[in-house]
Parts: sequence; C-alpha cells; structure tokens
Amino acid sequence: MSADVILKDVNKVYPNGFHAVYDFNIEIQKGEFIVLAGPSGCGKSTTLRMVAGLEEISSGELIINGKKVNNVAPKDRDIAMVFQNYALYAHMTVYHNMAFSLTIRKVDPVEIHARVMKAAEILGLVPYLNRKPKQLSGGQRQRVAVGRAIVRDPVVFLLDEPLSNLDAKLRGSMRKELMQLHERLNATFIYVTHDQIEALTLATRIVVMKDGYVQQIATPKEMFDNPENLFVAGFIGTPPMNFFQGSIDENGEYFVHESTGMKFKLTAHQQEIIGNYIGKRVTMATRAEYIYIDDAHLADNKESTFEMNIDYVEYLGAYNLLYGNFGDEQIISKVYSREVIEAKNTKLCLDMNNVHFFDIETTKRIR
Ligand code: ATP
Repeated sequence: MSADVILKDVNKVYPNGFHAVYDFNIEIQKGEFIVLAGPSGCGKSTTLRMVAGLEEISSGELIINGKKVNNVAPKDRDIAMVFQNYALYAHMTVYHNMAFSLTIRKVDPVEIHARVMKAAEILGLVPYLNRKPKQLSGGQRQRVAVGRAIVRDPVVFLLDEPLSNLDAKLRGSMRKELMQLHERLNATFIYVTHDQIEALTLATRIVVMKDGYVQQIATPKEMFDNPENLFVAGFIGTPPMNFFQGSIDENGEYFVHESTGMKFKLTAHQQEIIGNYIGKRVTMATRAEYIYIDDAHLADNKESTFEMNIDYVEYLGAYNLLYGNFGDEQIISKVYSREVIEAKNTKLCLDMNNVHFFDIETTKRIR
C-alpha cells in the first residue's frame, strides 16, 4: 500500500497572527477513511482546507499521490470537496450540477455523460436528473453534492461536515450510504466532523484535535479502548468516561479516592506501571460499561466495590444509564436493563482490568 496523502509538520498561521494548526503529521494510505474530529475551533476545517488548497500552508509539506502540492492550485490537486452547505447551483438541473466541473475542464461530452450517469446510478439519482436542487429533499441534495465529487474521479475526497444540515434519522442513513460509497469507490476520504459518533462509525482512523494540536491518531476501537489523554477520554464515547480523582498509596497497591477515602486495589499490571506515581495524585478513568451492579461482578471485584446513591435512571431499551454521585464525582454506569436496581443506595463495582490512570499534570495515560 502506498501513502496517498502525507502531511509533514504542517502549520497554519492566519494573516492576523492566529496559529490555528500546529505540526500536523500523518501518512494516509490509499482507501483510508480518515475522520478529523474535535470541538469547534480546534482546527479541523483549517486542516482540510489546506489539503484542498483553499488555505495556504504556512509551513510544512503536503504530498498528494507522491507529489508535493503546497503551491499547486486546488483544481490541479486530484481532490474533490463536498461542503456542509452543498453549494449546489440553484438554476441548474441535477444532471448539470454534476456535469459542471467537467464541462469547464473541457472534458469530452461523451465522457461527461458516461461519468454523470455512472455517478447517478451509484447514488440512486437517476430519477431526479432533470430536477432543480429546490425540488429535492435534504438527503437527495447531499447525494448530488457527493455526485459532483464522484464525477471528478479524484484521488482524495474531502468532506467538511457533509451531514450536519440533515435531521438525526437522515444523518444515520446517509452515514450508512457514505460507508457503502467509500467501499465501492475504494478511494481515500478525509472527513471533518465535530460529532464523535460519526467519527466512530465511519473512520478507519480518527484524528482528534484540540486547540490546533493533534491529540491522538488511532482506529476507532483503539481510541475508545485506549485514549491517549484525558481530553480524548472525555471526547470519544457516549457517555464519556468516568473520572475519579485520587492518589496512589505509599505501597503502590491501591488507588485512594480523594473525596471518599475509598481504596481500589490495583491489578498486578497496574502496580508495575504506576511505580513513578507512588504517593502522587492521579486520575482514574473507566467507561460506563465497566461499572457493574450484578452479583457475579460484585463477587469478583470485592476490592473495587463502592456504594452510590442513584439519582436518576435513563432507559435506553436494552441498557439503562445509572446516574449518581460518588464523593465529588458524577458517575454514570451502563447496565443491562434486566438488572434490577433494588435500592436507591446501591453497590457498584469497577472491573479494574478496564481502568486507566492518567497523569494529572501532562494529562497523558500512564502505561
Ligand atoms: P468548527 O467546527 O467550528 O468549524 P474547526 O475545528 O473546523 O471548527 P477552524 O475553522 O479550523 O475550526 O478554525 C480554527 C481556528 O482558527 C478557530 O479559532 C478560528 O477562529 C480560527 N480561524 C479560522 N479562520 C480564520 C481566519 N481567516 N483568520 C484568523 N483566524 C481564523
């Protein structure tokens, strides 16, 4: 496999002096679906726009298909972009919206027709080719926008929050369509979203950004299971990870929860890696899925069992989310709804094998 898109130490400083992206490094392989994710203002659109050639790269190198393209015009970069607002031409039919970019490039009309028809078939747009954009639903307009990119047959598809204008249900079905389309085209996708569910469901690898800095680049599973720092732990996954503030006891055997004094026994592996933190404060974190209330888990995890007042239960069908406070922290546990919650004050336990520790100062996962 060859790298399709390489960003080497890419930085963006806007003319007003604002440093929006710091030292972005990634090698994207052909056929990957890369999702740039992060909260508003983290620099994800700026990064995508630098790849598209819509923003100048302040320093660093951008290589597409083996060629350095920092100074190559957008139209010559082998990329096609799908925007959030679709940017369709209102006065043109669906057919002409899709054909337009090829017409201005003076592609042979027979070839244009073939490419438009092929894209229309892939996207289920054949019945709508003579309609104008305002005669289409939001999802159909979105497909036309994608169709305009497909006809260009680019090396890389760039998509900037393409689903954000759709309602939740349509977003779900368009997500599925995009995944199928990606498989069919076998092209490289770079996709921007602030929605971590989109990131988890679509990406082959996710790039999480914050304040212009890349926080972690990993597969969805790796990012979910092993977040690199506290920010990623809080950003990826619904509900977000549970955090407990505390410290490691002087023998390096227990995590002592600060606001309750409760002790949690560390696993043998944790005792090995936590050596530098003996007597120091750390953050313990675990996913709601690994906080249990059933008898079998309680029996197996006696040294990490605690009591919590359940304030609120959110029913999600097969699962319930239990909300409560443990000392100073709000805790959310995700349990099968068949588990009966007998009392408001209930015993819960952590599976310490699925607990992470984070350095309070660097915010990095201790490993
Ligand atoms: P959103 O999800 O809100 O679009 P984003 O992560 O895509 O956010 P960017 O649009 O990349 O964020 O912007 C990153 C930062 O750069 C923001 O703080 C933004 O205010 C700033 N910025 C964007 N464009 C300019 C500009 N032309 N001049 C100066 N600063 C800018």
